[in-house]
Amino acid sequence: MARKTLRDYIRTIPDFPHEGIMFRDVTTLFADPRGFRMCIDQLLHPFADQRIDKVVGLEARGFILGGAVAHQLSVGFVPIRKKGKLPAATLSQEYQLEYGSATMEVHDDAILEGERILIVDDLLATGGTAEAGIKLVERLGGVVTGCAFIVDLPDLGGRKRLEDMGMTVEALCA
Ligand code: IMP
Repeated sequence: MARKTLRDYIRTIPDFPHEGIMFRDVTTLFADPRGFRMCIDQLLHPFADQRIDKVVGLEARGFILGGAVAHQLSVGFVPIRKKGKLPAATLSQEYQLEYGSATMEVHDDAILEGERILIVDDLLATGGTAEAGIKLVERLGGVVTGCAFIVDLPDLGGRKRLEDMGMTVEALCA
């Protein structure tokens, strides 16, 4: 039997959270010891020989991935959270959703001027969430070295949007 690839550990749930959406569920990848290790190893591989000062994870699955990647790189981890969840002083960044808008926040002392940052999330769709994360990092003076995702949905344009901002985008599967 052929060895399982990373893609084989991800399941697709039709009509979640809305009719017509094919939701990529990475919890099955996280739950498998071989799958999870393979995922973390592959996510950090392009950045392993670069100087990264901190890993930023986007709520919520970016926390699971970002914590493990930061541990492997022996660097700190910074969460970017949905509005109202972080306890100390924050910077806020609004971004557009399909219907309406949302706001992401970061602690205003979490990233220092000139720090080199790797941003991590599970999935890149339109790129709106990642763009908000990039803007928050840059507003704090951080330098985004790259953005790493498990899944890229290229038809939704997120990769192009981030690359047009000058970002290096790495994704493990489509
Ligand atoms: P974007 O802002 O349109 O790029 O959407 C990406 C954000 O939505 C990420 O934080 C993802 O966690 C989440 N997301 C969108 N679609 C999915 C999916 O099919 N599976 C898991 N997460 C998703």
